[in-house]
Amino acid sequence: MSIFIKIKINEKTCKGFSECGECVKICPVNIFDKKENRIITIEVNEDECTLCNLCLDKCPVDAIEIEKLYDK
Ligand code: SF4
Ligand code: SF4
Repeated sequence: MSIFIKIKINEKTCKGFSECGECVKICPVNIFDKKENRIITIEVNEDECTLCNLCLDKCPVDAIEIEKLYDK
């Protein structure tokens, strides 16, 4: 069974790169990036997520959701 990862950012609560940007700085596999001040995810890197939880621990407003999708 494989796990596929989908990462979502809540744009309503995210503080943006200039005010925060912690997820971009901490993720060891570069899943987060910025587009102007908005945080985006780089989808091709999402399956590299190690589920280390560093981004979840750092985000001050719990704006990151990591969804685990399993195949059969
Ligand atoms: S759990 Fe770890 S590897 Fe996955 S997105 Fe967050 S910081 Fe990156
Ligand atoms: S750590 Fe959270 S609040 Fe900060 S930029 Fe990332 S998603 Fe937004």
